[in-house]
Amino acid sequence: NERVLKRIESKDPWYSLEFFPPRTENGAINLIGRIERMNRGGPLFCDITWHPAGDPGNTEKPTSSTCMAGTMLNYCGVDTMLHITCGNQDIEDIKENLNKAKDLGIRNLLVLRGDPPDGGESWTFQKGRLNYATDLVKLVRQEHGDYFVICIAGYPTGHPECSSYEVDLKYLKEKVDAGADFIITQLFFKSETFLKYVDDCRKIGINCPIIPGILPIQAYQSLRHIVKLSRLEVPQEIIDAINPIKDNDEAIRNYGIDQATTICKELLNSDKIHGLHFYTLNREVATIDILKRLGMWLEEPAKPLPFKLSAHYNRTKEDV
Ligand code: FAD
Repeated sequence: NERVLKRIESKDPWYSLEFFPPRTENGAINLIGRIERMNRGGPLFCDITWHPAGDPGNTEKPTSSTCMAGTMLNYCGVDTMLHITCGNQDIEDIKENLNKAKDLGIRNLLVLRGDPPDGGESWTFQKGRLNYATDLVKLVRQEHGDYFVICIAGYPTGHPECSSYEVDLKYLKEKVDAGADFIITQLFFKSETFLKYVDDCRKIGINCPIIPGILPIQAYQSLRHIVKLSRLEVPQEIIDAINPIKDNDEAIRNYGIDQATTICKELLNSDKIHGLHFYTLNREVATIDILKRLGMWLEEPAKPLPFKLSAHYNRTKEDV
């Protein structure tokens, strides 16, 4: 984990890739193959999101985040960061999840509260439980000292539940002071939004690395879904650009690649950041294309895996 932290703090450009746990066994096999291919591009780490409640509409048991993270680390040989939430969970269960992560050799955590249960818009304080990510950062440090590198989430337009942008920044500072090492941000649509956020963080003494979360827009429906979940506003110019092509997946993806590449270049040129975090949505084409355009894709030779996986996974349309 020293390697990850040193590199995050250094000025060498790097990137990380986010995936979510697949919903089916076949999805898990596909994702492992995808991570194997994407690892050749030289990401600093890959991370896997946390979904404690699983997917209610799903008839197969979803792959657990911890299990997927263990596979990424121990089977694919990728430095891995596991997301972990604390909201609405018993402290003993959270402690057990942390121990499981440690047993698997995971050294990097993205520590989060999680959204209010049942899709609610505001948080109801739960006595005797952890109500904010800051509480979980403290718990991780208290139970495990410096064993884990701790990342936390930041919101360049303010967290939607918070009374104001400034108040949210104050809580972010508390979260960092509790023992976090770096911040990855929510997605945003304009580089100015992120750059202003970094300046505002620095003004109140948040000095740790702040990594922009980049969402390559890949399809109209998925953009709508993500924006609704994150309660973000899409700028009118983006709506105007994608509305006429909304039924053409390839055109939307090309637009998303151009738009994300432009943002990444502006951010890297600002000299305020050296790392980029990609919300891949478990897809590879757009992210790889952007990284190639930025000159950040390394294309190392495939690392040997314990057995030849590539022959076993089914390529989906998106892979081609
Ligand atoms: P917190 O930092 O706890 O903040 C939540 C709210 O409480 C904010 O409005 C904040 O201003 C306020 N607050 C903080 N401290 C206090 C206090 N002491 N008193 C009063 N108010 C306070 N969700 C998942 O379920 N799984 C994931 O894997 C996942 N990954 C994510 C990755 C990234 C990079 C990001 C940006 C978000 C992710 N989320 C994930 C979504 C996240 O769980 C939600 O945005 C959630 O609503 C807030 O989580 P948080 O850790 O930022 O919360």
